[in-house]
Amino acid sequence: MTIPGTSSDTRADLYDITFVGAGPVALYGMYYAGLRMTKFKTIDMLEEIGGGLMALYPEKYIFDVAGFPKVMAKDLTRMFKEQACQYPHEFRLGEKVVGLERDKDGIIHLITDKGEHLSKTVVICAGLGAYIPKKLEIPNVERLEGAGIYYFVRRINDFRDKNVLIVGGGDSAFDYSMMLEPVARNITHIHRNDFFAAHEDSVRKVMNSRVRMKFPFWEVKSIEGEDWVRRVTIFQSRTGEEETLDIDAIVFNIGFLTSLGPIEDWGLELEHNAIKVDSRMRTNIEGVYAAGDIVTYDGKLKLISTGCGEVAIAVNNAKNYIDPKAKVSPGHSTDKHELAQKKWARKQAQEHAHQPSEKKE
Ligand SMILES: Cc1cc2nc3c(=O)[nH]c(=O)nc-3n(C[C@H](O)[C@H](O)[C@H](O)COP(=O)(O)OP(=O)(O)OC[C@H]3O[C@@H](n4cnc5c(N)ncnc54)[C@H](O)[C@@H]3O)c2cc1C
Repeated sequence: MTIPGTSSDTRADLYDITFVGAGPVALYGMYYAGLRMTKFKTIDMLEEIGGGLMALYPEKYIFDVAGFPKVMAKDLTRMFKEQACQYPHEFRLGEKVVGLERDKDGIIHLITDKGEHLSKTVVICAGLGAYIPKKLEIPNVERLEGAGIYYFVRRINDFRDKNVLIVGGGDSAFDYSMMLEPVARNITHIHRNDFFAAHEDSVRKVMNSRVRMKFPFWEVKSIEGEDWVRRVTIFQSRTGEEETLDIDAIVFNIGFLTSLGPIEDWGLELEHNAIKVDSRMRTNIEGVYAAGDIVTYDGKLKLISTGCGEVAIAVNNAKNYIDPKAKVSPGHSTDKHELAQKKWARKQAQEHAHQPSEKKE
């Protein structure tokens, strides 16, 4: 007998796990979903996988991922992808999930701008939604966006031999300083507070580099330039001291406004613009899990490493939800890897004999 939404329900269009988002956290989740021999699909509204790593900072070095002393975001994405795609997988890119409903049989319907997807469980790894950079409200900022004013560093080469001003005291601002230091003609880095939010070691490295640090209480007063940024006046807000610098690239990194967009209307319990989860990464909707930047719980850190740990918990609990006979703990990958690969190959061969082919990446 087929019980809807359970492991005995094998309809072709019904997936075991569907990931909303194809950022680093979902990609790592895909690896576990394959290891646990589930049928899974990954949907992202962007045309490219990698989430924030590819959309915001592909050429930034990341220093705090377990096992990688230093790795460029686009290289890390390539390795996440390689790990994720070793098992049968399906990407739906350029497709935005706008609705989530759980029907009376426990099947979850994900409604997108292109159609509908059915899944026994869903793991939401949608990050912070849209990243909208905070902007300074001073003349010329909006007019010179794309003409020397940046909010992200996507291509290091854009800054080669430029006089660069970095504005901000968080990790990304310091990472950008370190990343551009070898290529820029010179870098001035200013921060308006008397403390840094960045890691202590990042601050130390920048302080010891040829970056000229203006701190504390330094802010941008005015920006000049007709068709491109040419000069910037900075000031010390306590003493009134001013300096005018020849600058041809400013990187503002003063925070982001985030918006969950349609996810706000899915009936999920939210707190501070994030989805509340328990220690098994369950949301308040049965069968719906969440991981990565989009979740909140006591002690949450928004990092790639923590997101990866969370999605491992989410996927293994989703497996146990779909098939209560399956253990939550996956064991170690070395025990499971070859066995899973062989079983997948057998399962694929059987399914291909019975089903029409679907859109695969
Ligand atoms: C400038 C900057 C520098 C950073 N540096 C570091 C660092 O050095 N180390 C570190 O650990 N972390 C860093 N972070 C944080 C890190 O990028 C995040 O922790 C990580 O990207 C979270 O991964 P995620 O998969 O949860 O979300 P994301 O990477 O944000 O991916 C979410 C994906 O979900 C998709 N999505 C969202 N809503 C929908 C929807 N409704 N339908 C379909 N798709 C949807 C998005 O398009 C996106 O691709 C940095 C962040 C920024 C902004």
